[in-house]
Amino acid sequence: MPAYEFPGGITPPERKDRSNQSPLRNAALPTQVTLPLKQHSGNPAIPCVAIDDRVQVGSLIAQRDGMVSSNLHASVSGTVTHISENAITIDADGLDRWQVLPSLDWRSEDHQTIIARLDSCGLVGLGGAGFPAYIKAQIADHHRIDTLVVNAAECEPYITADDLALRRYPTDIMEGAQMVARLCGAHQIVVGIEDNKPEAIHALREALSHFQKSDCQHPVSITMKVIETRYPSGGERQLIKKLLNLDVPSGGLPADVGVLCHNPGTLLAALYAVRDGKPLVERIVTLTGDAISKPGNYWVRLGTSVETLLQQVGVANQQLHQVIVGGPMMGLPLSTLDAPVIKTTNCLIAATREELPPTPSESPCIRCGACESACPVQLLPQQLHWYARAENDGTLEKLHLFDCIECGACSYVCPSYIPLVQEYRSAKQRIRIKRIETAKADHAKHRFEFRQARLAREDAEKQARRQARQAQSRQMSGSSKVADSATPVVDLRSLRIAQTAAKAAVRKAEKTLARAAAQDPSQRHDDLETQLATAQENLKAADTRLAEARATMAQQESP
Ligand code: SF4
Ligand code: SF4
Repeated sequence: MPAYEFPGGITPPERKDRSNQSPLRNAALPTQVTLPLKQHSGNPAIPCVAIDDRVQVGSLIAQRDGMVSSNLHASVSGTVTHISENAITIDADGLDRWQVLPSLDWRSEDHQTIIARLDSCGLVGLGGAGFPAYIKAQIADHHRIDTLVVNAAECEPYITADDLALRRYPTDIMEGAQMVARLCGAHQIVVGIEDNKPEAIHALREALSHFQKSDCQHPVSITMKVIETRYPSGGERQLIKKLLNLDVPSGGLPADVGVLCHNPGTLLAALYAVRDGKPLVERIVTLTGDAISKPGNYWVRLGTSVETLLQQVGVANQQLHQVIVGGPMMGLPLSTLDAPVIKTTNCLIAATREELPPTPSESPCIRCGACESACPVQLLPQQLHWYARAENDGTLEKLHLFDCIECGACSYVCPSYIPLVQEYRSAKQRIRIKRIETAKADHAKHRFEFRQARLAREDAEKQARRQARQAQSRQMSGSSKVADSATPVVDLRSLRIAQTAAKAAVRKAEKTLARAAAQDPSQRHDDLETQLATAQENLKAADTRLAEARATMAQQESP
């Protein structure tokens, strides 16, 4: 299979060898965990435990709120000691007692059972914004998916979590890919991996040759494509271009070109949730940076504090300059080491000042065009810079600001040290807030419509119950004559049309919500969820009216 090119890109120092030289290990069991209620895109989860409750590893402690949200489970066994607006704290009992769900065979279970399992286990994408995996698994409802891309590029410097997962669990990751390919209807799986991971490539080759010998167990063909190391080849659009020569349209999703992307860690967690009934309570984290003495990759329980973790790997506090969550290109500096590891924490860099020095002061733009050459999305970073500073949001949107993947390549090459990517992040946030303000008025209207739809549905159900009671009493009195004259003539055809329209409205609302959530996962989508709930209420009412009409017809026709 040929490799195609995406534009731009950079080759920063990789610095992966500090963490990829030692085997995957388990971090020590924490004595206390603090689990934020929002570790994913969408709404925070709602606590379903109380203080002093005893929990086991895998006990449900908070339930998802709405469609774009995610369940949360205890990551240690022990006692719930604190519940705040944002997080649940558990003191561990050190016994590490687990509570897992029954094992499922993904080859024989129906899709809905598997999707419900991903949902109940709180599965989210482990590589990016933490988008709930159960929604992504339903993508085949709205899109025809041809190809599942396993995004094993892991292109950011320092991060090696997927590399180590691939070396250690290549067969499980490929089995997870088969399971997800079956769910989304993909007929091929393409693994994209950068050529700086020779051991993972070797492990994958072995696993693939094993699969080829047992075709009936793993029916979807898998191809591995080794690509050159260039940042940001792990961006979904860039990888799809590189592997399949397909262009995801501006403002669109990979699904628009028939592709679904998952990273290896997510596929592994998905398989463990389904096959082993294991909720998402731990993940692999790269612990690296010159300020620690035992860098490497560790299985870490969610909720473990960063400080505890860094102490285990020998942090030298006097040399520590900053801790970055994620990679140096897209990650963010931590303001406190009290912060816990969450579902999306793939890397912690404990950096010294010499290693990641502060950015020099900014100077004016010299219009050199380096940023434009580096941009993998072919945006105009310099123009975006001017309009972001001027807060000219209309022009920013015309220049496709929201296509910016915040890769930081433009900032990296800028000789004037202009913090371009921060400017774009702030501009996006400002525009989102404006959109939210505008949407508030619409939301009030949609809530009113939801109330009307709920009342109509309750009315239809009341009417159906009344009709059923009347029919029963007529039956008991044996008076079918009265029934004939008392029962209105039903228009089945209109009711069927109304039901079909209501079903279409639900599908449309689901699709709109899923698309909005995928495009803008960090935001709440309350209004779209209200619109979906309204459509669902209307469908329930249409179903009830049709069922009631059919029952009436049956009575009218009975001798
Ligand atoms: S790289 Fe920096 S200095 Fe050069 S054009 Fe872009 S913003 Fe201006
Ligand atoms: S941060 Fe945005 S504008 Fe800058 S190079 Fe990346 S995609 Fe282009």
